[in-house]
Amino acid sequence: PGLSWGLRLFASAAAPNPLGSVASPKVKLLIDGEFVDSTTENWLDVVNPATQDVLSRLPLTTKAEFDSAVTAAAKAFPKWRSTPVPTRVRVMFKFQELIRANMDELARSVTAEQGKTLADARGDVFRGLEVVETACGIAPYLSGELVENVAGGIDCYSIRQPLGVVAGICPFNFPAMVPLWMFPLAVTAGNTFVLKPSERDPGAAVMLADLAMQAGLPKGVLNIVHGSRDVVNWMCDDPAIKALSFVGSDTAGRYIYSRGCAAGKRVQANLGAKNHAVVMPDADVDSTVKALAGAAFGAAGQRCMAISAAIFVGGLTDRWSEPLLAAARSLRLNAGWEKDADVGPLISPEAKARAERLIASGAAAGARVLLDGRGVVVPGYERGNFLGPTVLAGVTPNMECYREEIFGPVLSCLEASSLDEALQIVNGNEHGNGTAIFTRSGAAARKFQSEVDVGMVGINVPIPVPLPFFSFSGWRGSFAGDLHMYGRAGVQFYTQTKTVTSKWPAEDLKVISAGAAPVA
Ligand code: NAD
Repeated sequence: PGLSWGLRLFASAAAPNPLGSVASPKVKLLIDGEFVDSTTENWLDVVNPATQDVLSRLPLTTKAEFDSAVTAAAKAFPKWRSTPVPTRVRVMFKFQELIRANMDELARSVTAEQGKTLADARGDVFRGLEVVETACGIAPYLSGELVENVAGGIDCYSIRQPLGVVAGICPFNFPAMVPLWMFPLAVTAGNTFVLKPSERDPGAAVMLADLAMQAGLPKGVLNIVHGSRDVVNWMCDDPAIKALSFVGSDTAGRYIYSRGCAAGKRVQANLGAKNHAVVMPDADVDSTVKALAGAAFGAAGQRCMAISAAIFVGGLTDRWSEPLLAAARSLRLNAGWEKDADVGPLISPEAKARAERLIASGAAAGARVLLDGRGVVVPGYERGNFLGPTVLAGVTPNMECYREEIFGPVLSCLEASSLDEALQIVNGNEHGNGTAIFTRSGAAARKFQSEVDVGMVGINVPIPVPLPFFSFSGWRGSFAGDLHMYGRAGVQFYTQTKTVTSKWPAEDLKVISAGAAPVA
């Protein structure tokens, strides 16, 4: 089975001749098992960032439609939570099969709407697919604990139960992976879900929901609403929604965390990042430079685990800068669906202008622009939001280009005289998402792993995103909440513990043995 109704329109948009002005399909809402057009009068354009063509139009969901989505989820909950776990899991087995079968169409939609290369788009879908695979094995994560005989004839045990209606709010940069971080585990744990994809690239989430319905999710278990601030505020405030998962920027995430918590909800919020690579003088030059270039410039730097700062212990000597610049220069900018594309466009003209402004502010503050990606033009895609790989040297922690998350293909190079000094820089940054050390020394790696104040650490691995049987464990300014996304913590987030103390009087047994009815 493939994707149903008009969804193929999104997928075909990644061809060199995208839909453009021919048709701008309306992005559907999913309410109570039906894909429907919104009745709103307010719409946003979903734009191809390589061409500026309008691919589709996204509705700003009305309050009445939002309420219907939450009501549908609340209505579906009692039956879904009492559906046996293996039955819920079987839907995920089917869902993962359908995602695999439609991988290329999903990837093409991601490339058209988000801009990343088709290879990166397939990675986007694949990393989400791995969470669906983990949801297929959810049963052991749902188990409780039991202590027999806590008092005479009394046992005590805990059971994990779903919360009810839960909701998710997604960013633009991983339009397939992030929705899949959220709803598969939540619904397999027995919750029902209201999802808000990013308003910039909703196509993959809608296609995934279509596949999840085909896989057998009953109506109302997964609902989709679109929009931006208003719908997010309703999600934070609605008492029927018990928990919120958020992935996105610091500003939105901190706001949603406070507003959601104030309304008595659980909130987990994955926020912004500034991920450092620490390059020790003994690191292997070829593999380290290759890793740095891929992690800094790949996906146009629009990954929350991108390496955006490199600290060279012992200095940024020619030994490092020459091969690094050569690797950066060798990357080809192009529309994501073109065969030779290594780096696609940024999401919007505003994102590009902001990155360029931060590069200029670095230069004005004394950083050296070793490679300048500003002003590049990609033939055939002159209107695209392209920014070429950019390398800044002599960056110091007080500079704005270091303090701000640029979210573009820009690597800021810093220097330190020792591992201790490098650790001080990393630990002094407000964010604590990911980091990596490149070295041949086990002792240096071990010290780094132990002392770095960051939640995900790579040792000669540039982008240490944990597989979904672990959790995505950003720290400090990169996370707000208690329980991280996916893995065991993810299931704990979507379930609550009930603790039962039980006594079955032994006298009842005597009565039953004597053939009489038990005492009521
Ligand atoms: P964003 O914060 O602008 O948007 C994320 C979501 O929040 C969207 O659905 C949007 O509609 C909503 N939103 C935005 N502003 C809002 C506001 N003022 N009030 C209410 N809702 C609002 O983020 P983005 O630009 O889509 O994504 C990029 C950011 O996400 C980067 O900072 C990146 O580091 C971060 N990110 C973090 C992780 C992680 O796991 N830590 C993963 C991916 C992306």
